[in-house]
Amino acid sequence: MRLLVIGHGRMGRLVEQLAPGYGFEVAGALDAVDNPGGAGITRERCQGLEVAVDFSTPEATLATGPKLAALGVNLVVGTTGWQAREAELRQAVLAAGIGAVVAANFSLAANLLDALTQSAGRLFAGAEGYGAFIHEAHHQAKKDAPSGTALMLRRALERGGYTLPVDVSSTRAGWIPGTHTVGFDGPAETLTLAHTVRDRATFAHGALAAARWVVGRHGWFSMRDVLGIEG
Ligand code: NAD
Repeated sequence: MRLLVIGHGRMGRLVEQLAPGYGFEVAGALDAVDNPGGAGITRERCQGLEVAVDFSTPEATLATGPKLAALGVNLVVGTTGWQAREAELRQAVLAAGIGAVVAANFSLAANLLDALTQSAGRLFAGAEGYGAFIHEAHHQAKKDAPSGTALMLRRALERGGYTLPVDVSSTRAGWIPGTHTVGFDGPAETLTLAHTVRDRATFAHGALAAARWVVGRHGWFSMRDVLGIEG
């Protein structure tokens, strides 16, 4: 199976390195110079490609994704910060009949945290006097804040039926690969659910597992679909 890497930064390089372990041959890696406004996506380049894995920028994802979809290439998108325009890419994916896995976080444990957060939202929905918060910390080069994962966790609380305000805060410093904490604070106690990344290779492993899973599927999927997490 042939795979194209979109965005040759921290994440793209890891995907390129680890792809052979998932049965993929890397057909190429496009970065800003090769792919301004999605110009690197040509019919020739996409011939025989099963899937493209995108860890780039919001602008690049929105320019590149619809072109890849139209050429029949399945997508795995990890880029964050473009979800306000998600409908554009979703429409292109559904119109083309390809498969796409889109996730703000590809790590297994972060997706389990998402499921646990949904349950916690349900359990705390009726708990009077408790306030909810989400805190995330990342390296100083991360562009979007709050992180896509923090927004995903806020949606999980809502899905669980939690309707009270949730304080969401961000820290950007040094080299932190990513931590997310969901907390509930009451008059005399605090409950926290926390996820800490020690090595961002965990995201690349998840994205490559998603790439293998999406080949032959049609539709718009999340990492929960890939992992078989219900709810
Ligand atoms: P990075 O800055 O190291 O890499 C991004 C790369 O995209 C850069 O090399 C940049 O030159 C390139 N790029 C810019 N324009 C492009 C274009 N038109 N075509 C192709 N490439 C282009 O960032 P990173 O740490 O690798 O993260 C990339 C994205 O992935 C960010 O949005 C980040 O939040 C997200 N991320 C998601 C997950 C997840 O699990 N979903 C995990 C880590 C990072």
